[in-house]
Amino acid sequence: MTSISANLQAVAARIAAAALAAGRDPASIALLAVSKTRPAEDVRAAALAGQTAFGENYVQEGVDKIDALRGLALEWHFIGPLQSNKTRAVAQAFDWVHGIERLKIAERLSAQRDVHLPPLQVCIQVNVSGELSKSGVAPGDAAALARAVAGLPRLQLRGLMCIPEPSEDEALLRTRFATLRRLKDELVEGGLMLDTLSMGMSHDLELAIAEGATMVRVGTAIFGERRQL
Ligand SMILES: *Cc1c(COP(=O)(O)O)cnc(C)c1O
Repeated sequence: MTSISANLQAVAARIAAAALAAGRDPASIALLAVSKTRPAEDVRAAALAGQTAFGENYVQEGVDKIDALRGLALEWHFIGPLQSNKTRAVAQAFDWVHGIERLKIAERLSAQRDVHLPPLQVCIQVNVSGELSKSGVAPGDAAALARAVAGLPRLQLRGLMCIPEPSEDEALLRTRFATLRRLKDELVEGGLMLDTLSMGMSHDLELAIAEGATMVRVGTAIFGERRQL
């Protein structure tokens, strides 16, 4: 067994234990393997071990891996910051985008998504850390952005995503994740059909699952320490 497949098993066990502790079905939590900075061969090893969904932060690196591994029928999520001059490549190559924080970017992705492809699945990134973070829409602006994005023809709005500020304070991190969950619940009550809370990484996935995560994004715990680009 490769270390990647052993790591995948260990992460699956962590997800299952956290789900059971929270009274949730482990099958309700998807694992996104974050493969940024890893060679395509590491993705292939994870795919051979049964992992199907992968996350990338850098457009060109992601597109290159998607091309190299096309035969494996994997699902690719763009999870990095996205500038408007890179939207076309993302709209054409990826299945999901997690970090929507501006309507202009969403409009470009919708306009550039090939009509022969399924709609691009998207999440709105919310800044749950206030002044401690610069990325994501402010919680108070999330509903308006969500309604606008939900109306775009080639996108399917699936839910919300957050990256809390780095912290060792578990109680604090839980409040950040809870903020995202409450916001999603409010949007659902307001009539939007959302099923995704993308939150939790290698060091805090248990806390995110306790607060309702439906997708955890895990890199280091699967692939080891990141390589420098
Ligand atoms: C790198 C990254 C992850 C994975 O982080 P790990 O700590 O390696 O698990 C998750 N989400 C985003 C947005 C990332 O950039």
